[in-house]
Amino acid sequence: MRSKLGLRIVRGIRRRNFIKNMLPKSDFYSRYKDFDDLPLGNKKLLMDNFQKINILGIPAEEAFQVGVEAESGRRKDSLIDNITVGLSSGTSGNRGIFLVSESERAAWVASVLIRVIGFSFKQRKVAFFLRANSELYESVRSKLLAFQYFNIFEPLKRHWEELLRLKPNIIVAQPSVIMELIKESGLENIPWRIEKIISVAEVLTRKDEHIISNWARIEVDQVYQCTEGFLAHTCWKGNIHWNSDFILIEKEWLNENQYIPRITDLKRTTQPIVRYAMNDVITRGECSCALKSEVIGSIDGRMDDVFKWKIDEKTITIFPDFLRRTIAFSNPTITDYQIVKKNQEIYLWIRGLKESYEDAESSLMNLFLNKGIITELHKAKQPLVASNGKKKRVINLD
Ligand SMILES: [Zn+2]
Repeated sequence: MRSKLGLRIVRGIRRRNFIKNMLPKSDFYSRYKDFDDLPLGNKKLLMDNFQKINILGIPAEEAFQVGVEAESGRRKDSLIDNITVGLSSGTSGNRGIFLVSESERAAWVASVLIRVIGFSFKQRKVAFFLRANSELYESVRSKLLAFQYFNIFEPLKRHWEELLRLKPNIIVAQPSVIMELIKESGLENIPWRIEKIISVAEVLTRKDEHIISNWARIEVDQVYQCTEGFLAHTCWKGNIHWNSDFILIEKEWLNENQYIPRITDLKRTTQPIVRYAMNDVITRGECSCALKSEVIGSIDGRMDDVFKWKIDEKTITIFPDFLRRTIAFSNPTITDYQIVKKNQEIYLWIRGLKESYEDAESSLMNLFLNKGIITELHKAKQPLVASNGKKKRVINLD
């Protein structure tokens, strides 16, 4: 989108169209005529009113069952008619369900293709790392892109051998998976010429970004998504831009620079995503590229993962990004880590040279002390890995 006015016009038309033509199809939203009257959404509202919100009236129990069966391999797809069911991560009783139609999938693909992968006439090979049974990306087929899917639950050693054989032009994966691949390769640099590495589904830290881009000898692209909605992407300058032409963002400011976004996705139709409170903390940013869309300085992690202590009636908070930086900068040999808060105490796992644990530990204790937090810090033998294969670095279990 080249001009700010153009962007505002496109968004204005899409917004009007969304309220006038889309929302009336949803039992739950049909009574609202004005955007400002629309109720503020979150996971609870979406799940409590699931059947009334989705325009096909699919009951939550049915969708949940299809999603769980597909994930466990008891079904070969996660479809209800031509609607894909997706389950978000979370503890078993707390998982969100998402519905996406074929045309929404196609729209997702088109946006990702144009905005991230870019257009080229020669056919390119794409290695796509995902959770098992996600049909969503199956539709990302075209004459110009040949996709190969890698299930992240299978051994990475085999995947690395396959990558060596395939030599893909583009790799799409979670940063934690790419970091494992780098380790598996045992090489300083990727042994073929790669055009793009696209980080998805997890927060890409600056340190990982640095390691990955050194290994691949290219900048790392980043897609910010929420349950299959395409929210933001990196531009050629490496900054993350909101897809402001079809994502409306309302901000709940935490301080001068950080906010929690509430998003309305004007492209989602089967299951409208309306004024939906994201769980992420965003720091605002700026960019001098030609895109007129709003810039994200950094995605600082899930609101759930903010560490909080109550001391003398006061709540002291530490944001995930701050914890990440404290650990990463404490010792240059740290290649991976995880910090977990449970029962007000801290569990730390570090991968690096011998003294790296002590360095990380003392940096963290200093940080806590400076904030007036008194806590115990324990050494963890192994990192926690979620049921969906995601390994987060900062986890708050309190
Ligand atoms: Zn930019």
